[in-house]
Parts: sequence; C-alpha cells; structure tokens
Amino acid sequence: MYQLLKEEGRAKRGRLETVHGTIETPVFMNVGTAAAIKGAVAAEDLKEIGCQVELSNTYHLHVRPGDEVIKSLGGLHRFMNWDRPILTDSGGFQVFSLAGLRKIREEGVSFHSHVDGRAIFMGPEESMRIQSNLGSTIAMAFDECVENPSPREYVERSVDRTTRWLVRCRDELARLNEKEDTVNPHQLLFGIDQGGVYDDIRIRHAQEISQLDLPGYAVGGLSVGESHEEMYRVLDSVVPHLPRRKPVYLMGVGTPANILEGVERGVDFFDCVYPSRNGRHGHVYTNEGKKNLFNACYEKDPRPIEEGCGCPVCRRHSRAYIRHLLKAGEMLGMRFCVLHNLWFYNTMMAEIRAGLDEGRFALYKKAKLEAMAEGSRDTMDREKERKRPVPGARDALTGGEK
Ligand SMILES: [Zn+2]
Repeated sequence: MYQLLKEEGRAKRGRLETVHGTIETPVFMNVGTAAAIKGAVAAEDLKEIGCQVELSNTYHLHVRPGDEVIKSLGGLHRFMNWDRPILTDSGGFQVFSLAGLRKIREEGVSFHSHVDGRAIFMGPEESMRIQSNLGSTIAMAFDECVENPSPREYVERSVDRTTRWLVRCRDELARLNEKEDTVNPHQLLFGIDQGGVYDDIRIRHAQEISQLDLPGYAVGGLSVGESHEEMYRVLDSVVPHLPRRKPVYLMGVGTPANILEGVERGVDFFDCVYPSRNGRHGHVYTNEGKKNLFNACYEKDPRPIEEGCGCPVCRRHSRAYIRHLLKAGEMLGMRFCVLHNLWFYNTMMAEIRAGLDEGRFALYKKAKLEAMAEGSRDTMDREKERKRPVPGARDALTGGEK
C-alpha cells in the first residue's frame, strides 16, 4: 500500500495507494473542516490548485449536518463532489479542546455540542461509526490530546487509555468495513502517538502502537502550546520509533518552515488551517515571505501576488485589485488569497518531492528557508521564532473560526 520510494537522510519520499487514488508524499492536506475550505473554495477549485487530499472534521460533521445524513447521500465524497482521498480526524481533538464541559471515562467522553448544547457521547466506537458513515479514505483513531505542558502522571495515564482506545478503534473499524451497507469498505485507520513533551512516554507509546501494524501513524498533540524547539525535539525522538515503511502524519502543523523541518525528520503527511486562515485575513505566502495585502503599498500595484506564480489567481489578477476587494469586504478577495496560499503550500510540497526524487532536498530546504526569511518584512529573528509556541492545531478548534 505504502511504498518508500526514496530517502535522503531521514526524509522520505513515499506513495500511498488508496481506493480513492494515489497520494504522493510528502503531502499537505487541505483543511475543509465542515466539508468546505473556508473562504468559499469548492472541491472543483481544489483540483485546480493541486490538492491531493482533503481533510474534514468528524466532530463538526457529526454535529452538523449529521453523519447519518451524509451517509444517506452516499458518503462524504459524493456529498461534497470530491473523488480524491479524504482524511477525517477522529473528533477527539475537538472534543477535548472545544468542549468546555466534558467528562472522560474509560468508555469515552461526554460533552455538550458547541452548536446547540445538546449532550453528546463519543468514544472509540462512536468515532469509528461516524467516520465510517462519512466513508473517508483514511480514518483517524480516537485519542486524547493533552495540552502542553501537562503533568507527567496525567500524560502517562492518558496515553495508556489512548492505546486501549486504539485497539477498540481497530476492532470496530474492521467490523464496520465488513458491513454490507458500508460506504467505504476499504477505509484505512491511522493510529496516533501521544505523550505531550515527554520523549520517553512518546517513544514507549510509539513502540506499543507500532505493534498493531496499522496502515499509518500520526504524531498528535503537537502545536498545542509547546515551542518549535520542543516540537522538533519530540519529532527527532519519536519518528525513528514509528515504522519506516508506513506513512507518518504530523497533525495540525504548520508554517512552511515547520513543514520543511518535519519532512527532514521523516514526516509524510501534514495539515494546517494556516494557509486558509491567513488568506482570509489578506496575508499571502510568497517565496519572499508573507505579505499583507491590506498594506497601502499595494494600492496601485499591478503585479500579481507573486510574479511567476501559476495559480489561478496570479494568472489573472493584480495585487491592487485583490487589495481593493479585501478593503471593500468582498468575499472574492478572501477566496483569491486562500486559493493562492493553498497553491503555494501544494506547490511547495511538489517541490519538496522533486527535491527528494533528485537527492537535493537538503539544498532545496536551505534555499527556501533563506529566501522566505530574507524577503519577509514580518519575519522576526529566527532564533526568537524557534522559542515561540508553535501556531497551528489550536487554531483548528472551531468550525466557526473567523
Ligand atoms: Zn498565486
């Protein structure tokens, strides 16, 4: 299923064959929380901007419109008219971070919907049933994502429970995949490594879950309060203990620099709300760093967001026009910035893959980081940046984010 095509140091160039098509890795998944990329971007747009995998959110789709509704309409692929791979998260992250009032037991978690306050119970079996109803290509295991830092004793207990939950997820998904009316009988399950910033707990957990021989593994619980340095250190320790010949997914991370560092440490899959969120605020990524299109200097600028960019927006529209749309509060301005940013991320991943194919990823990474740091007025001192908390996953909490 997963082929390891090429290696450069610890970086991997891989390919995952799925029932919905091939995923070339490293890959950035484009986040469509509630079956849409925020910023009025549709599935057909995703094809035009080079998206391989769309990511949707189990919790949000369970609350609204309801996974049963989506199943009755043929599953998520048909519902949103997207025929390529979809990954659904387990809902665990939202349950643990979004729901203020919650109660964790061995069976699962009781909490209240953030939309209408109704009581919901979700455990491993419920999460698998919802994801099975959605029929995603890849389902994620139901886990507890603890905040960083959390007390060691708590993290230990939580990780043990997450392992027991993973076994239940595996068994339940196997059962669901056998059912006659299942949407996607080939649904894959990825397990998730947890353990906060405690390397030894994480390593032990990685070894335990690797025994289950699942189709893929994720490193979760990062970019939830720890610094960049801590995150990179955790990846350095943990990734070597996950199967080399399985895809590795770093959840909810991050900036282009975070992604380049993750690839170097052996990560295959990434996702983050960053490019779409930034786009909605008029912040666009370029090879010279991030630009704020609200700035007055773009008022009469006839150039595209980035000269030479092949995205559908840069091929047609000027900075001046997009700035005007943003200033006027036109939704089109947001949409253009989101499209460009996702193109930028997807293209960077294609460049990373080409770099790995040709054995020059290290050189590519260095050049890309230097160019982006140099050109960006917003970029602060890199050392200072590394000490700051990693942005990302925490931002993905709400479906109603601005
Ligand atoms: Zn562009």
